[in-house]
Amino acid sequence: MRILIVEDEPAAASYLKKGLTEAGFVTDWAKDGADGLHLAVGEEYDLVILDVMLPGMNGWEVLRALRAAGRETPVLFLTARDQIEDRVKGLESGADDYLVKPFAFAELLARVRILVRRAGAKQPVTLRVGDLEMDLLRRRVVRAGRRIDLTAKEFALLELLLRRQGEVLTRSLIASQVWDINFDSDTNVVEVAIRRLRAKIDDEFATKLIRTVRGMGYVVDEQDAG
Ligand code: CA
Repeated sequence: MRILIVEDEPAAASYLKKGLTEAGFVTDWAKDGADGLHLAVGEEYDLVILDVMLPGMNGWEVLRALRAAGRETPVLFLTARDQIEDRVKGLESGADDYLVKPFAFAELLARVRILVRRAGAKQPVTLRVGDLEMDLLRRRVVRAGRRIDLTAKEFALLELLLRRQGEVLTRSLIASQVWDINFDSDTNVVEVAIRRLRAKIDDEFATKLIRTVRGMGYVVDEQDAG
């Protein structure tokens, strides 16, 4: 599940990013409205968390432009001002929900989960490859009827591989999508995570789902890796 955070205050943005990442979401951060709109239109997100007070283009303008571009991505508004007019304005502009700053992170997380679930009702919530099934809402992975426990990072990694099934994903792409880091050749974080994931989903099964494409990256498909 990918979330775009549009927030001009770095401290607030990193607080959101950290909490959402720990909760298993993959996040991107845009620091102003124009960047946020560009990403929200050009990329696929499950949710946009949109601050109202932004430099340049404000949150309402971003939301209107997003809806005008035909994007129905759910939007959770963050407003520092709790006047009723702001709430009405936000909801009239097509926001799905709003939160008044300051808020407790648990409250935000609850709203995020509701919005993602509501939107997910229109999208497949189960990803499959071979005899492996991944339930994105219950955050459960089952292979051949056996429940497999994954860490939040392993879950995000498997979700990325399954969403882009059949596609070879480079280590740098995986690092940027799952760890939100730019690839550094000295780090073997992706290799280590793939090894751990394999130990859980592939080692005990005859048919391997994760395949290494030498010199390129990894792919998940039904073709046996042997
Ligand atoms: Ca702001």
